[in-house]
Amino acid sequence: MFDHRRLGRELGLFDTDPLIGAGLPYWLPDGAVVRQSLEDFVRTLERRAGYRHVYSPVLGKRELYERSGHWAHYREDMFPPLSMGGEQLVLRPSLCPHHALMFRSRSRSYRELPLRMAELGGMYRSERSGVLGGLTRVRAIQLNDAHIFCTLDQVAEEARGALELIAAAYRAMGIVPSRYRLSLPGPGGKYVARPELWERATALLVRVLDELGVPYEEGVGEAAFYGPKIDVQVVDAAGRESTLSTVQVDFHQPEQFDLHYIGPDGARHRPVMVHRSIVGSVERAVAHLIERHGGAFPAWLAPVQLAVLPLGEEQDGAARELAARCLELDLRAEVLGAERGSLGARVREARLAPYQVVLGPREIADGALAVRLRDGRRLAPLPTGEVLERIHANVRAHAVDLW
Ligand SMILES: [Zn+2]
Repeated sequence: MFDHRRLGRELGLFDTDPLIGAGLPYWLPDGAVVRQSLEDFVRTLERRAGYRHVYSPVLGKRELYERSGHWAHYREDMFPPLSMGGEQLVLRPSLCPHHALMFRSRSRSYRELPLRMAELGGMYRSERSGVLGGLTRVRAIQLNDAHIFCTLDQVAEEARGALELIAAAYRAMGIVPSRYRLSLPGPGGKYVARPELWERATALLVRVLDELGVPYEEGVGEAAFYGPKIDVQVVDAAGRESTLSTVQVDFHQPEQFDLHYIGPDGARHRPVMVHRSIVGSVERAVAHLIERHGGAFPAWLAPVQLAVLPLGEEQDGAARELAARCLELDLRAEVLGAERGSLGARVREARLAPYQVVLGPREIADGALAVRLRDGRRLAPLPTGEVLERIHANVRAHAVDLW
């Protein structure tokens, strides 16, 4: 059983410092590689699925969140406002209000819909210090988020598309969802009150789940304050369940921000907002990946993809040349030279690298590499170029299998 906090420190992925503060981890170079690879992958998935990426600031005026409903329904999870020149600014608790304003920034035609706006953006949650830890409970969050502005008729197709992206991402990450949850409102006043809109949104999500044939359970009291959602749940090493990915249908914020588009009839119509996240927060996704794989990430995420072990000092030059060839292919190689200990010790040190090669006089003379895979398999020698091409293809395909 793996604990991502312990592994994160042991593998030099991330850490915290009391002087920075609890719940505010920093990412060390190897952890940054994992994070960046994940972010690049998600952005590419989104681009291919017709999303356009945007950037928006992590601060907004208090009035923005009064309008969105966050101030009334979500304030206990928000940082207190900062006073600036007679205005109050808050660290944003979500990206939706900014995206709604960006949609509203000019007139929209029905021909632009569905308009898919994506951002990997910062947001903040004022978690109490008692619950903070590792990457799963943090106060500064990098969210893989998107909002799809569409007509009512397009909602089911967009929600289905989002669930397919989630499934594709999980395949590449080697993650298996524990269950799908249809999150509905519970008793209490933390939800916006428009029963007919809740019913409509819930019916749409149920239709999507039924059409996909995904078994799901209802989670009463788990909805967002503005609407129901489909949550994709995962279980961590300690057996705790959490939400990574969500798809939500929202009729509330389009009304609050008076969003509209011009329809084929020339009249103004209200769009629906579908909120969706493929991998959720980058912090929680990486925490889950660390625990799921025990630090032995799929090759496309691995900080070191190819460990190069020269037999002795005489092979150092060739090892560095091989590493340079990898760099040109965008592959991450590390040379573990003889100065780092016996061959056996270096093999153990490189045990998390998906691919290892030992460079001796024979390999250099033959221009061939005998690859040793992380799972213990040893492959017959192949020409160096062919080996690098195979690894490169595996990384590009975001494969979970190594060869
Ligand atoms: Zn949102």
